[in-house]
Amino acid sequence: MKTRETDIFIIGAGPVGLLCAYLAEISGLKTIIIDKSEGPLEVGRADALNARTLQLLEVANLFQDLYPLGLPCNTSSVWEKGKFISRQSSWWNELQGCFHKHFLMLGQAFVEQLLDKKLTAIDAAVIRKTTIEDIQLTAHGCTSTLTNGDIIKSTYLIGADGSRSFVRNHFKIPFEITRPQIIWAVIDAVFETDFPKVPEIIVFQSETSDVAWIPREGEIDRFYIRMDRKDFDMEDALKRINLAMAPHYVKIKKLVWFSQFSVKESVAEHFLFQDRVILAGDACHIHSVNGGQGLNTGLADAFNLIWKLNMIKNHGTNQNLLRTYENERKPVALSVIESSGELVRSTKYSDDGTHAKDYVKIVEKRAGNITGMGIRYSESGCAGTRVYDLTIHKEKKSMRLYSLLEYTKFTLLCFGDYVPAITVPDFVTILQVRPNETQHEYWTKEDYYKNQIVIVRPDAYIEAVAPIGEAESLLKNLVETYVEN
Ligand SMILES: Cc1cc2nc3c(=O)[nH]c(=O)nc-3n(C[C@H](O)[C@H](O)[C@H](O)COP(=O)(O)OP(=O)(O)OC[C@H]3O[C@@H](n4cnc5c(N)ncnc54)[C@H](O)[C@@H]3O)c2cc1C
Repeated sequence: MKTRETDIFIIGAGPVGLLCAYLAEISGLKTIIIDKSEGPLEVGRADALNARTLQLLEVANLFQDLYPLGLPCNTSSVWEKGKFISRQSSWWNELQGCFHKHFLMLGQAFVEQLLDKKLTAIDAAVIRKTTIEDIQLTAHGCTSTLTNGDIIKSTYLIGADGSRSFVRNHFKIPFEITRPQIIWAVIDAVFETDFPKVPEIIVFQSETSDVAWIPREGEIDRFYIRMDRKDFDMEDALKRINLAMAPHYVKIKKLVWFSQFSVKESVAEHFLFQDRVILAGDACHIHSVNGGQGLNTGLADAFNLIWKLNMIKNHGTNQNLLRTYENERKPVALSVIESSGELVRSTKYSDDGTHAKDYVKIVEKRAGNITGMGIRYSESGCAGTRVYDLTIHKEKKSMRLYSLLEYTKFTLLCFGDYVPAITVPDFVTILQVRPNETQHEYWTKEDYYKNQIVIVRPDAYIEAVAPIGEAESLLKNLVETYVEN
């Protein structure tokens, strides 16, 4: 029996736990992460990263590893009676301050494997085939007992242990589940078909809209088939696909993954327990896969959470900052339940029998959630919104603003020629961006923030904005909020 101490103990090495561990480690926080599985996911589950996730991955320097592996896709189409009756992407095209105006179709396994490898490389590997027996809260944090008898003492504990969360149940955090009696089959495979294949998400309208085609990375594609019963096999699911695609046919050349899931919807009553235990990902929100928001919402939880723990632990910020995690993320989770719930019900029920068209209209209406770009942490104004990703130049090189942001710090962006005479604390980086080409300095032609000073949080949301001449007082507010509170 060993006793170990750490800043953060993470239970669950799905994508959310892995990302929490990775972001914490790069922020200088010590972690221990366990999982009951033998290794990261190899196939199946989530299939797409949205535009906001792509931006956040860039801030954490993970984008370059993942982007080349996926398939960009921004169009949702409806197929009825042998032809496309609509093909829409306007909600992506209209996004401002965003370079990757599309989903990146890429399996969850790629995300897990990359993070698992990165953690191993920095000597923070997942402890596998290990699970949890007990957690006790102490005056200074948590004492957890593993099933192998080892003890972990941690300042914080993150329950990233999925929809049946041990952590959530252990602390009796209410999680009331709605079951709309909708059951999907999902098939990932290399398919043989005479269908005119395009890299678009296609919803097939027949009697209802019970079949959707999701293009994927490499040679594989995915079909979702609404079965609404549990006792089906793959042949039953394939029959439904062929019915919806008639007169075209589909056959499986090579099966990669076949599964079923019943839609369940819930948001945990609390994401925090006594300021020491934190829930993230499926442990605190579950919903239908429609809109591809499960993985994306969980990853965004991790981005929202870890910089706050970094500020509290490494920079002396008041513990109350952690409460903003629940205040910011719980409304997002509730809105995701609403949007995925509306989407999934529209595949079954439609007043006019136009399920697939209704579906695409809901995608348009709910684009803020589905692209991730509409998520904001304030009612109005610039603060609490995502900072726009601008094209920035330096000498002969062009780059995106997001490639210059660092997850471990706030960034103070000064857009203009006025150079404020300020000294910043070690958790802040200054970036002066000139309005015209200037030797050896960053400059941009884009004028969203012209002559403004913008403080950007580590998770790339705006903390505050003011005219550039007010840099000093803006910085003073930041220090008061995060250090002298
Ligand atoms: C069949 C299926 C299909 C899906 N398809 C999609 C999709 O198309 N698009 C989409 O966005 N989302 C999809 N999802 C949802 C998506 O996979 C989840 O939202 C995402 O995996 C959440 O990540 P997570 O890390 O929070 O939880 P999980 O991925 O569930 O990871 C939890 C981890 O905790 C570990 N664990 C659990 N309990 C313990 C314990 N007591 N001790 C130690 N380890 C433990 C598990 O082994 C697991 O590795 C799908 C889910 C399922 C089940």
